[in-house]
Amino acid sequence: MPSHGQIQGNRMQREIKLLDCPFDGNKGDVIFDNDHHGEWFNLGCCNKECVANNLFYTEEIENLDKSINEWNKRHKIEDLK
Ligand SMILES: [Zn+2]
Repeated sequence: MPSHGQIQGNRMQREIKLLDCPFDGNKGDVIFDNDHHGEWFNLGCCNKECVANNLFYTEEIENLDKSINEWNKRHKIEDLK
């Protein structure tokens, strides 16, 4: 079964704090699972219809911290000009 919001198994268990989706305000979520490709995670909006649903899907579980930081980063309008 995929697990939500925490790393299980031989990894250190910790809660992952994700900001709400910048597109529609739904909760950010991260799902961990593994299959014949190995471990993977999918970080994004919990709304499956949202453009950000699969924003960070990767089989490189080492990229998790980077993806969390990217998700939680909020650009100011001034930065985009
Ligand atoms: Zn969303």
